[in-house]
Amino acid sequence: MDVNETIEDIKFFLHHLSLPETAQVFIVARVADAMWEAANAGVFLSILPDNRQSTLPMVGQSSALRLFAGHTEEGALSLMGGSDASTLSSDPAWSILLPDCGDLLEESTSVALEELSQLVAPSSLTHLELHIAPRILLFDSVDWQAVLRSLHCVRIMVVGSRWAAEGLVRALYQHQDLLPVLELLELCLGELLAETHAGPLPVPNETIPRRRIEKVVIVQADQKEAPYMEGTIIGSMIEASAYKFRHSICSACHVAATRVLEPESSDESAGSMSPGIILC
Ligand SMILES: [Zn+2]
Repeated sequence: MDVNETIEDIKFFLHHLSLPETAQVFIVARVADAMWEAANAGVFLSILPDNRQSTLPMVGQSSALRLFAGHTEEGALSLMGGSDASTLSSDPAWSILLPDCGDLLEESTSVALEELSQLVAPSSLTHLELHIAPRILLFDSVDWQAVLRSLHCVRIMVVGSRWAAEGLVRALYQHQDLLPVLELLELCLGELLAETHAGPLPVPNETIPRRRIEKVVIVQADQKEAPYMEGTIIGSMIEASAYKFRHSICSACHVAATRVLEPESSDESAGSMSPGIILC
Protein backbone atom coordinates (compact mmCIF):
# COMPACT_ATOMS: atom_id res chain seq x y z
CA MET A 1 0.00 0.00 0.00
CA ASP A 2 1.28 3.46 -0.89
CA VAL A 3 0.26 6.56 1.03
CA ASN A 4 1.38 10.00 -0.12
CA GLU A 5 -0.19 12.83 1.86
CA THR A 6 0.43 15.91 3.95
CA ILE A 7 1.92 14.79 7.23
CA GLU A 8 -1.00 16.00 9.33
CA ASP A 9 -3.56 13.93 7.42
CA ILE A 10 -1.91 10.51 7.47
CA LYS A 11 -2.45 9.48 11.06
CA PHE A 12 -6.22 9.81 10.86
CA PHE A 13 -6.34 7.81 7.64
CA LEU A 14 -4.13 4.99 8.96
CA HIS A 15 -6.13 4.80 12.17
CA HIS A 16 -9.05 3.25 10.26
CA LEU A 17 -7.05 0.62 8.40
CA SER A 18 -6.33 -2.93 9.32
CA LEU A 19 -3.56 -4.55 7.35
CA PRO A 20 -2.16 -8.08 7.57
CA GLU A 21 1.37 -8.57 8.88
CA THR A 22 2.56 -9.50 5.40
CA ALA A 23 1.41 -6.26 3.74
CA GLN A 24 4.05 -3.84 2.52
CA VAL A 25 3.41 -0.21 3.44
CA PHE A 26 5.19 2.78 1.96
CA ILE A 27 4.32 6.17 3.42
CA VAL A 28 5.40 9.53 2.02
CA ALA A 29 4.63 12.36 4.45
CA ARG A 30 4.96 15.84 2.99
CA VAL A 31 5.57 18.74 5.36
CA ALA A 32 5.29 21.64 2.88
CA ASP A 33 2.26 23.79 3.75
CA ALA A 34 1.72 21.84 6.96
CA MET A 35 1.57 23.40 10.42
CA TRP A 36 3.57 20.43 11.72
CA GLU A 37 6.36 20.94 14.24
CA ALA A 38 8.50 17.96 15.15
CA ALA A 39 9.13 19.10 18.71
CA ASN A 40 5.41 19.30 19.47
CA ALA A 41 3.84 16.65 17.28
CA GLY A 42 6.66 14.12 16.99
CA VAL A 43 8.02 12.77 13.72
CA PHE A 44 7.07 9.14 13.11
CA LEU A 45 4.72 9.22 16.08
CA SER A 46 2.84 12.06 14.37
CA ILE A 47 2.31 9.80 11.35
CA LEU A 48 1.69 6.35 12.80
CA PRO A 49 -1.65 5.92 14.60
CA ASP A 50 -1.84 5.11 18.29
CA ASN A 51 -3.56 1.81 17.43
CA ARG A 52 -0.69 0.77 15.13
CA GLN A 53 -0.30 -2.58 16.85
CA SER A 54 -3.57 -3.70 15.27
CA THR A 55 -3.62 -1.51 12.16
CA LEU A 56 0.05 -1.77 11.13
CA PRO A 57 1.42 -4.83 12.96
CA MET A 58 4.46 -5.10 10.68
CA VAL A 59 5.96 -1.94 12.22
CA GLY A 60 6.10 -3.09 15.82
CA GLN A 61 7.37 -6.54 14.86
CA SER A 62 10.40 -5.28 12.95
CA SER A 63 13.72 -6.85 13.83
CA ALA A 64 15.71 -4.40 11.71
CA LEU A 65 15.46 -0.61 11.33
CA ARG A 66 17.34 1.81 9.12
CA LEU A 67 17.15 5.57 9.69
CA PHE A 68 18.51 7.81 6.97
CA ALA A 69 18.89 11.57 7.49
CA GLY A 70 20.54 13.89 5.02
CA HIS A 71 20.00 15.99 1.95
CA THR A 72 20.04 13.09 -0.45
CA GLU A 73 18.22 11.99 -3.56
CA GLU A 74 16.33 9.56 -1.38
CA GLY A 75 14.78 12.44 0.54
CA ALA A 76 15.61 14.22 3.76
CA LEU A 77 14.50 11.77 6.41
CA SER A 78 13.40 8.18 6.12
CA LEU A 79 12.87 5.11 8.24
CA MET A 80 12.69 1.59 6.89
CA GLY A 81 11.87 -1.56 8.76
CA GLY A 82 11.48 -5.27 8.29
CA SER A 83 12.66 -8.68 9.30
CA ASP A 84 15.56 -8.95 6.85
CA ALA A 85 18.37 -6.44 7.39
CA SER A 86 19.95 -7.25 4.04
CA THR A 87 16.95 -5.91 2.11
CA LEU A 88 16.19 -2.86 4.26
CA SER A 89 17.20 -0.33 1.64
CA SER A 90 15.98 -2.18 -1.46
CA ASP A 91 12.86 -4.00 -0.32
CA PRO A 92 11.76 -3.08 3.21
CA ALA A 93 8.55 -4.39 4.74
CA TRP A 94 7.57 -0.78 5.38
CA SER A 95 8.99 2.69 5.06
CA ILE A 96 8.19 6.24 6.04
CA LEU A 97 9.73 9.05 4.02
CA LEU A 98 9.65 12.78 4.80
CA PRO A 99 11.01 14.06 1.49
CA ASP A 100 10.88 17.79 2.14
CA CYS A 101 11.69 18.40 5.81
CA GLY A 102 15.22 19.51 4.97
CA ASP A 103 14.91 22.89 6.69
CA LEU A 104 13.87 21.15 9.88
CA LEU A 105 16.28 18.27 9.68
CA GLU A 106 18.30 18.77 12.87
CA GLU A 107 15.24 19.04 15.06
CA SER A 108 13.38 16.28 13.20
CA THR A 109 16.30 13.87 13.44
CA SER A 110 16.75 14.41 17.18
CA VAL A 111 13.06 13.78 17.81
CA ALA A 112 12.98 10.79 15.44
CA LEU A 113 15.89 9.09 17.21
CA GLU A 114 14.18 9.26 20.56
CA GLU A 115 10.99 7.77 19.09
CA LEU A 116 12.57 4.59 17.76
CA SER A 117 12.15 2.52 20.90
CA GLN A 118 8.44 3.37 20.94
CA LEU A 119 7.88 2.23 17.37
CA VAL A 120 9.16 -1.32 17.65
CA ALA A 121 9.00 -3.93 20.37
CA PRO A 122 12.46 -3.74 22.01
CA SER A 123 12.47 -7.54 22.29
CA SER A 124 12.17 -7.78 18.48
CA LEU A 125 14.83 -5.33 17.38
CA THR A 126 18.25 -6.90 16.76
CA HIS A 127 19.64 -4.72 13.93
CA LEU A 128 19.68 -0.91 14.02
CA GLU A 129 21.20 1.45 11.45
CA LEU A 130 21.44 5.21 11.94
CA HIS A 131 22.91 7.06 8.95
CA ILE A 132 23.00 10.79 9.74
CA ALA A 133 24.72 13.24 7.41
CA PRO A 134 27.68 15.13 8.92
CA ARG A 135 26.01 18.49 8.33
CA ILE A 136 23.23 17.56 10.75
CA LEU A 137 24.77 18.63 14.03
CA LEU A 138 23.42 16.74 16.99
CA PHE A 139 25.98 17.77 19.60
CA ASP A 140 23.70 18.35 22.56
CA SER A 141 20.30 17.65 21.12
CA VAL A 142 20.28 13.86 21.39
CA ASP A 143 20.15 11.93 24.63
CA TRP A 144 21.83 8.79 23.33
CA GLN A 145 21.25 6.98 26.57
CA ALA A 146 17.51 7.58 26.16
CA VAL A 147 17.66 6.45 22.52
CA LEU A 148 19.41 3.17 23.35
CA ARG A 149 18.24 2.37 26.88
CA SER A 150 15.41 -0.02 26.08
CA LEU A 151 16.94 -1.56 22.96
CA HIS A 152 18.49 -4.40 24.90
CA CYS A 153 18.38 -7.02 22.11
CA VAL A 154 20.34 -5.11 19.45
CA ARG A 155 23.27 -7.26 18.29
CA ILE A 156 24.26 -5.27 15.19
CA MET A 157 24.52 -1.48 15.39
CA VAL A 158 25.47 0.71 12.44
CA VAL A 159 26.01 4.44 13.03
CA GLY A 160 27.39 7.37 11.10
CA SER A 161 28.60 9.90 10.34
CA ARG A 162 31.35 11.02 12.67
CA TRP A 163 29.47 13.18 15.17
CA ALA A 164 26.60 10.78 15.55
CA ALA A 165 29.06 7.89 15.87
CA GLU A 166 31.09 9.73 18.48
CA GLY A 167 27.98 10.58 20.51
CA LEU A 168 26.73 7.02 20.40
CA VAL A 169 30.13 5.48 21.21
CA ARG A 170 30.53 7.90 24.12
CA ALA A 171 27.19 6.70 25.48
CA LEU A 172 28.27 3.05 25.10
CA TYR A 173 31.51 3.88 26.93
CA GLN A 174 29.97 5.87 29.77
CA HIS A 175 27.01 3.53 30.23
CA GLN A 176 28.38 0.07 29.62
CA ASP A 177 25.04 -1.58 30.31
CA LEU A 178 23.62 -0.04 27.10
CA LEU A 179 23.15 -2.52 24.23
CA PRO A 180 24.26 -5.42 26.46
CA VAL A 181 24.31 -8.06 23.67
CA LEU A 182 25.99 -5.87 21.04
CA GLU A 183 28.29 -8.01 18.86
CA LEU A 184 29.04 -5.84 15.88
CA LEU A 185 29.48 -2.06 15.73
CA GLU A 186 29.80 -0.65 12.24
CA LEU A 187 30.93 2.98 11.96
CA CYS A 188 29.92 4.66 8.71
CA LEU A 189 32.51 7.44 8.63
CA GLY A 190 33.58 10.06 6.18
CA GLU A 191 36.16 12.09 8.07
CA LEU A 192 37.81 9.93 10.68
CA LEU A 193 41.38 10.65 9.68
CA ALA A 194 41.31 14.34 10.56
CA GLU A 195 41.93 13.82 14.28
CA THR A 196 44.12 10.76 14.20
CA HIS A 197 47.04 11.08 16.62
CA ALA A 198 50.43 9.40 16.30
CA GLY A 199 50.06 7.37 19.49
CA PRO A 200 47.07 5.81 21.18
CA LEU A 201 44.79 8.26 22.96
CA PRO A 202 44.12 7.50 26.63
CA VAL A 203 40.57 6.72 27.70
CA PRO A 204 38.57 9.90 28.40
CA ASN A 205 38.08 8.86 32.03
CA GLU A 206 40.72 6.64 33.59
CA THR A 207 38.17 5.17 35.99
CA ILE A 208 36.06 3.83 33.11
CA PRO A 209 37.56 1.05 30.97
CA ARG A 210 37.16 0.96 27.23
CA ARG A 211 33.91 -0.57 26.04
CA ARG A 212 34.66 -4.05 24.80
CA ILE A 213 32.96 -4.85 21.49
CA GLU A 214 33.51 -8.12 19.72
CA LYS A 215 33.76 -6.76 16.21
CA VAL A 216 34.15 -3.20 14.93
CA VAL A 217 33.91 -2.40 11.24
CA ILE A 218 34.82 0.99 9.77
CA VAL A 219 33.07 1.89 6.53
CA GLN A 220 34.82 4.64 4.60
CA ALA A 221 34.34 6.21 1.24
CA ASP A 222 37.96 7.30 1.07
CA GLN A 223 40.19 4.31 0.55
CA LYS A 224 43.59 6.00 0.61
CA GLU A 225 44.60 4.41 3.88
CA ALA A 226 43.12 2.80 6.93
CA PRO A 227 42.82 5.13 9.94
CA TYR A 228 44.78 4.42 13.08
CA MET A 229 41.76 3.81 15.28
CA GLU A 230 43.62 3.84 18.59
CA GLY A 231 44.64 7.44 17.85
CA THR A 232 41.09 8.69 17.47
CA ILE A 233 38.58 9.83 20.08
CA ILE A 234 36.21 7.05 19.07
CA GLY A 235 39.04 4.51 19.27
CA SER A 236 39.96 5.69 22.77
CA MET A 237 36.56 4.60 24.08
CA ILE A 238 36.24 1.13 22.57
CA GLU A 239 38.28 -2.02 22.42
CA ALA A 240 38.05 -4.64 19.73
CA SER A 241 40.29 -7.58 18.98
CA ALA A 242 40.48 -6.32 15.42
CA TYR A 243 39.17 -3.40 13.43
CA LYS A 244 37.97 -4.29 10.00
CA PHE A 245 37.71 -1.80 7.17
CA ARG A 246 35.30 -1.73 4.32
CA HIS A 247 35.06 0.77 1.50
CA SER A 248 31.66 1.79 0.35
CA ILE A 249 29.58 4.89 -0.32
CA CYS A 250 26.76 6.01 1.96
CA SER A 251 24.84 8.92 0.49
CA ALA A 252 24.07 10.30 3.97
CA CYS A 253 27.30 9.77 5.93
CA HIS A 254 29.79 10.21 3.10
CA VAL A 255 28.57 13.44 1.57
CA ALA A 256 32.07 14.91 1.63
CA ALA A 257 33.47 12.05 -0.42
CA THR A 258 34.80 13.04 -3.79
CA ARG A 259 35.56 9.57 -4.96
CA VAL A 260 32.84 7.45 -6.49
CA LEU A 261 33.06 3.71 -6.10
CA GLU A 262 31.10 1.03 -7.83
CA PRO A 263 27.86 0.21 -6.01
CA GLU A 264 28.16 -2.84 -3.79
CA SER A 265 31.91 -2.34 -3.75
CA SER A 266 33.63 -3.91 -0.81
CA ASP A 267 37.09 -3.42 -2.19
CA GLU A 268 39.59 -3.90 0.58
CA SER A 269 43.01 -2.45 0.03
CA ALA A 270 46.22 -3.22 1.87
CA GLY A 271 47.14 0.43 2.57
CA SER A 272 49.62 1.22 5.32
CA MET A 273 49.23 -0.96 8.36
CA SER A 274 49.63 0.11 11.95
CA PRO A 275 50.14 -2.26 14.87
CA GLY A 276 46.84 -3.66 16.05
CA ILE A 277 45.06 -2.89 12.82
CA ILE A 278 43.98 -5.70 10.57
CA LEU A 279 42.89 -4.99 7.07
CA CYS A 280 40.72 -7.67 5.65
ZN1 LIG B 1 26.00 5.78 6.50
